[in-house]
Amino acid sequence: MLRIAIQKSGRLSDDSIKLFKECGIQFDSSSSGKLKSISANFPAEFLFLRDDDIPGYVEDGVADLGIVGENVYTETGRQVTVVHKLGFSKCRLSLAIPRGTQWNGVEDLQGRGIATSYPRILGNYLKENGVEADIHEISGSVEIAPSIGLADAVCDIVSSGSTLLSNGLKEVEVIYRSEAILIAAPNLSEEKALLLDKIMFRIKAVQAAQN
Ligand code: ATP
Ligand code: ZN
Repeated sequence: MLRIAIQKSGRLSDDSIKLFKECGIQFDSSSSGKLKSISANFPAEFLFLRDDDIPGYVEDGVADLGIVGENVYTETGRQVTVVHKLGFSKCRLSLAIPRGTQWNGVEDLQGRGIATSYPRILGNYLKENGVEADIHEISGSVEIAPSIGLADAVCDIVSSGSTLLSNGLKEVEVIYRSEAILIAAPNLSEEKALLLDKIMFRIKAVQAAQN
């Protein structure tokens, strides 16, 4: 039986559930606080978890498959196999600065403080651009950091930009683009690999029908 980890509740949940249902895999996905659900018509068990924990569970083999944002996959740096891009939960990770501030380029951040929940992705970006800055890792409400004097800039997920706007910030540079991906444990048994093939065949058929 395949164990499949999906986000319990958040921006990946609905489309992850929909994907497997469209693949004809039935399971109870009612948000009743249930953490596990076994499919009645496919040898799979679904685990409902926080998205940040999914790459670790898949790396450790606690789950065989998982759906996460590429941003979380890259940030956690876990050794898992990226099987397929899924085309939903698209978003971008951007640098933003106070609206009244001038922007000439990322070199403006030399020696400055940047608040983010993505220290690894940001660190790589700064390194590639030869910029040394002070990264303040915070787990939520990153956008308020400049207004409370914690940082000069932020690096955060942007979708519409309205959160930035209401915090007096402007987006100045996209540093990473993300969408949901299917990940797999590195050493699946032959039996599980066959089940993954079956699922992939169905996912591709679903995606082909949508395009
Ligand atoms: P959890 O409680 O599971 O830790 P979370 O608050 O960390 O949830 P969500 O906000 O649900 O995470 O986002 C999950 C993923 O969805 C993100 O890692 C990202 O890949 C993607 N995402 C984030 N914001 C958006 C958005 N505005 N539009 C589309 N996708 C997004
Ligand atoms: Zn999360």
